[in-house]
Amino acid sequence: MPDTIFDKIVRRELPADIVYEDDEILAFRDIHPQTPVHVLFVPKQKSLPTLNDCSAADAPLVGKLLLAAAAYAKREGFADAGYRCVVNCNRDGGQTVFYLHLHLLAGRQMPERMS
Ligand code: 5GP
Repeated sequence: MPDTIFDKIVRRELPADIVYEDDEILAFRDIHPQTPVHVLFVPKQKSLPTLNDCSAADAPLVGKLLLAAAAYAKREGFADAGYRCVVNCNRDGGQTVFYLHLHLLAGRQMPERMS
């Protein structure tokens, strides 16, 4: 698999505004935020291109992406107000970076409809 921008951010070869890190997950602000808070959560040790490439063995890692987003929301004080978590997959999902990532969107009321 060719390197993506996120591989390089994880290896600290490209700069990013890192806002959360634990043993397995790194999170950094999206360069083109769609909402006042727009953070991307990525696995550190394993590069999976899309959600389609995850197997049952990856379930803990995929779950940790969600839990890291929730931990960040609690830490930053907007968990009760709420937020949205999104994983885009392939063309129709609007995926542009082929390194599994979860979008955390917050800071304003989200539209009820997804499009
Ligand atoms: P996708 O469309 O693949 O679900 O999301 C990729 C996201 O990565 C987009 O929201 C885009 O703005 C963001 N992005 C693309 N390049 C960079 C970059 O170099 N740095 C950061 N922080 N975000 C990026």
